[in-house]
Amino acid sequence: QEVDLGDIFDSFFGGGGGMGGMGGMGGMGGRQRTRGPVVGDDLRFDLEVDFSTAVFGGEEKVRIRHLETCNTCGGDGVKPGSRVKTCSTCGGTGVTVQVTRTPLGNFQTQQTCPTCRGTGQEVEEYCGTCGGKGVNQKTKQIKVTIPPGVEDGNKLRVRGEGDAGPNGGPAGDLYIFLKVKEDPVFRREGPEIYSDTSISYVDAILGASIKTPVVDGEVTIKVPPGTQPGQVMRLKNNGAPRLGNPDRRGDHYVTVNVEIPKDLSKEEEELVQKLQELRDKTKTTGAKKSEKKKGFFN
Ligand SMILES: [Zn+2]
Ligand SMILES: [Zn+2]
Repeated sequence: QEVDLGDIFDSFFGGGGGMGGMGGMGGMGGRQRTRGPVVGDDLRFDLEVDFSTAVFGGEEKVRIRHLETCNTCGGDGVKPGSRVKTCSTCGGTGVTVQVTRTPLGNFQTQQTCPTCRGTGQEVEEYCGTCGGKGVNQKTKQIKVTIPPGVEDGNKLRVRGEGDAGPNGGPAGDLYIFLKVKEDPVFRREGPEIYSDTSISYVDAILGASIKTPVVDGEVTIKVPPGTQPGQVMRLKNNGAPRLGNPDRRGDHYVTVNVEIPKDLSKEEEELVQKLQELRDKTKTTGAKKSEKKKGFFN
């Protein structure tokens, strides 16, 4: 955030009250406090969005509370038609000065003017709508556009939806802090998506075409023969759009789990035992089919 040196100067020498200037520094203290418009505060709003909204973007309606410039007085806090005159106590400087004579010389004490509270003005009647503050607390529904590819912790800036500034000053910005809900199927790291799928041990051995969910639907993947438990398959460009470059997408990685049945029938068990015998024979004789691809059971 930019810091306005004028504001720092003001807080030390205008509204500070207790900060007295020594005699020789009197020239610095006499500065009139700014009554001009000041930019309002930025606001933070925490928004939870669905996994798919974060991936593909979308629109969310949020209700926020912020300060808006008072419509009645236009932000200066003065009742319309009411007179504003220069403060007679301080002559418009917003500061009163007391000079004390001491043996070391004149000692000058400055204070915020108690009559005008440093504004330099005397107001006949303040605005009844805002009570002289120039702003009112308002609830507002705003539409937030979420770009594709956002992630947990990303911040979106909505310009001009923060608090309105004092004295009719422009509003600050609203910062939407995003929290992305977890998905029961997908995990995500940036544009990369991860999921798991399960296949039967027979499909793992012989290979199969299976359907698996991706972020925008379902794809059919070919699981090759001899697929190992925990093997990861990469589905190119099936991941999430990249933030700021949604035409480029990440990849989707599917971890293939192999289901080993626990409830074999007598017949299946006999066949598996038969397979075991054949397997042992294949290993010792080195049949051609098993030379290149390792079988599931070894
Ligand atoms: Zn007002
Ligand atoms: Zn005054």
